Amino acid sequence: MTNIPHVVILGGGFGGLSAANELRNSLSTSEVKITVIDKKDWFMVGFAKLWIVNGTRTFENSTGSLNELPKKEIDFIKDEIISFDLENKKVNTKSQKISFDFLIISMGAILAPQKIPGLEENGFNLYDHNQLLEIRHKLENIESGKIAICIMGMPYKCPPAPFEASLLIDSMLRKRGIRDSIQIHFYSPAPITLPAAGPNVSKQILELINSEKIIFHNSSKIKSVESNKLIFENNEADFDLLLSIPPHIAPKIIYDSGLAKEPGFISIDRDCKTSFENVFAVGDVTSLTVAENMAVPKAGIFAEGEGITVAKNIISKIQSKEDYTLFDGKGGCFIESGRDTASIIEVDMFSNNKPTTNLTESTSDNLSKKIEFERERLSKWL
Ligand SMILES: Cc1cc2nc3c(=O)[nH]c(=O)nc-3n(C[C@H](O)[C@H](O)[C@H](O)COP(=O)(O)OP(=O)(O)OC[C@H]3O[C@@H](n4cnc5c(N)ncnc54)[C@H](O)[C@@H]3O)c2cc1C
Repeated sequence: MTNIPHVVILGGGFGGLSAANELRNSLSTSEVKITVIDKKDWFMVGFAKLWIVNGTRTFENSTGSLNELPKKEIDFIKDEIISFDLENKKVNTKSQKISFDFLIISMGAILAPQKIPGLEENGFNLYDHNQLLEIRHKLENIESGKIAICIMGMPYKCPPAPFEASLLIDSMLRKRGIRDSIQIHFYSPAPITLPAAGPNVSKQILELINSEKIIFHNSSKIKSVESNKLIFENNEADFDLLLSIPPHIAPKIIYDSGLAKEPGFISIDRDCKTSFENVFAVGDVTSLTVAENMAVPKAGIFAEGEGITVAKNIISKIQSKEDYTLFDGKGGCFIESGRDTASIIEVDMFSNNKPTTNLTESTSDNLSKKIEFERERLSKWL
């Protein structure tokens, strides 16, 4: 280890920013050097994407700049990470080689629409920030027909988000006075709406979307997409506008380095360790299995919790303390109803060694909490 230990953080999303800030809030520049590397220089809370779709937000006023990090004495390098040598503790970006003492891999999940033949030509990607304005434009101009929202692979980021999207779209169409001329169909490969939240919460979510005449089609495993047609393993469905949640995979270098096998993610335990010493992985790039073959959902709140866990353990190691923290698996995801209220799915992944979930009432107070969740992260991290 060099005189001042160097923590390198790959990815400036929920996991990376929570870890970087936790480290810097506890250790001075003489105790630790922190470097965040990301190919883009902005951070956005995922759910703001749906506010861009419904027109209550713009991209510009939903992002924070990673260029603010140096003000907190956290170095930021805007560059693409192309490989790493975990034995020899080196990371290669397109333009430089960086040595580390501790590495936190927080590179998120990659959207892979190319895995579904015909999708890129015939449908939109609801999670791609580059497509949000065009989706909004389509929703502002559609007059009649069928909108299909289709989950095309599991696991995907923020399991309730596509349901929330369907409710916000329903609200947009209602406000335009054309809801009765448009059908909203929701397709999922899963047997119930939210397998990660269990049958009770799934039933409540089903009732919620059904109450807005959104039609849920379960066990719909997509094979391909044609012009205005979804081809599933067992049947077909036509659409006028397709909003997809494409399959998610890990970044290519995770497979190149052998940390995971395609199309999977880095397998971790509650300490977020990899098989390499002082190399950790957190957030959407990982898979943390809980009881009953269930994994921690891909959500910012869990990436954040894992990032803080790893940071605490690195701090403890740097300070030669015995303290050791395990990720607690607690969090919550918001579901906006489209009627100026929101509910929260409260999750405790490890209570009595099995996940427990609870869906709160949909209230305007919870919607304020959602807005505050975003404001707080942007202001404390950047
Ligand atoms: C519509 C929507 C709604 C959501 N709502 C919620 C919600 O209500 N609550 C919640 O908790 N979560 C929500 N999420 C999920 C949340 O956004 C993700 O789970 C979270 O961002 C994961 O954090 P992460 O740090 O693991 O990865 P990310 O935040 O994706 O960060 C990974 C970073 O790594 C960088 N990177 C990747 N590869 C490279 C490379 N080769 N070189 C350089 N940089 C690289 C990326 O640019 C990215 O900035 C939502 C997501 C979406 C899309």
